[in-house]
Amino acid sequence: MTDFSARVEAISISGIREVFEAAGEDAINLGLGQPDFPTPEHAREGAIDAIRAGDVDAYTSNKGTESLREAIADKHARDNDLDVDPGDIIATAGGSEALHVAIEAHVDAGEEVVFPDPGFVSYDALTKLAGGTPRPVPLREDLTMDPATVEDAITDDTAAFVVNSPANPTGAVQSPEDMREFARIASDHDVLCISDEMYEHIVFDGEHRSPAEFDDTGNVVVVNGCSKSYSMTGWRLGWVTGSNERVERMLRVHQYAQACAAAPSQYAAEAALNGPQDAVAEMSAAFEERRDVLVDGLADAGLDCPTPQGAFYAMPKVPEGFVDEVIDRGVVIVPGEAFGEHGAGYARISYAVDVETLKEALEIMDDAAQAVR
Ligand code: PLP
Repeated sequence: MTDFSARVEAISISGIREVFEAAGEDAINLGLGQPDFPTPEHAREGAIDAIRAGDVDAYTSNKGTESLREAIADKHARDNDLDVDPGDIIATAGGSEALHVAIEAHVDAGEEVVFPDPGFVSYDALTKLAGGTPRPVPLREDLTMDPATVEDAITDDTAAFVVNSPANPTGAVQSPEDMREFARIASDHDVLCISDEMYEHIVFDGEHRSPAEFDDTGNVVVVNGCSKSYSMTGWRLGWVTGSNERVERMLRVHQYAQACAAAPSQYAAEAALNGPQDAVAEMSAAFEERRDVLVDGLADAGLDCPTPQGAFYAMPKVPEGFVDEVIDRGVVIVPGEAFGEHGAGYARISYAVDVETLKEALEIMDDAAQAVR
């Protein structure tokens, strides 16, 4: 057999999968990274109408349809007070591809990328695929990323750092002051800040601000998408925005890897963004109720957990053997190590399940905590 590339040999399939396979079919799944709600009806209709009208049979422009990019620009004006030119947006196959093109377009072999640890699994893998060197940084006690830690980690070889707020796997939300600092660091050190804002609309405490709001050097690119905000993980529709020069470079990667995002999904996303936003608020309210149930339940079980302020994950500190014990008892949670070295001693619990199921899982986790103490 022929050789594989050293870059692909340096990465492996995410450890999260193994956990699902270890649990039985009837397990309660608190391992999932997707909302448990249907896609809003008006988004589905957007795709259906476009299919019926024959609008989706051909490639769209590489960047995505003009009307979708206008809807995305309107969204940034509405939610982030950002003036984004529709020409400086690329619609991608989910946030995943947006991260991919951002890293691929900016990171040379041997250059470093700084990102949170524990953090979303793609940052490490995409850095390695680009031939770069991952520089994971530990988090504060409350699981936010300290701008000072990021600044300390920056060297002459640093190409980029990643900010993710609200965060997967921690549920932490960075303060506006932190976001201002991240923009300053990107400017002072002339490194790229990749701001992953996939969970922007799922914030319970504090507020979501983008480092792009504080950026005056064009050193911030924003990754966002419909997967989490509109419960559209299966549609695969995200986007990346940045300065015109950066978008032009990212487009080269996107053009050859993807040509364009799937046209039906572009129409669904446009309808989701332009239509009523009630579903977004309703989902967020449901997540907040579950967050409260989970945090109370974990405290009752004697597990220490920084209160997540957004997304739909909690990351308690857990005793040795806890994760295996919980999985053996039929509840899927993910060991913190799956998200980086500093995740050891933690577990990620996703609360994208109804309150009743969550309560059932909490009883099992309580028993498991007693069993391993
Ligand atoms: N960024 C973060 C922090 C995520 O948690 C995810 C998905 O879990 C993504 C990006 C990728 O999103 P998508 O499903 O749109 O590719």
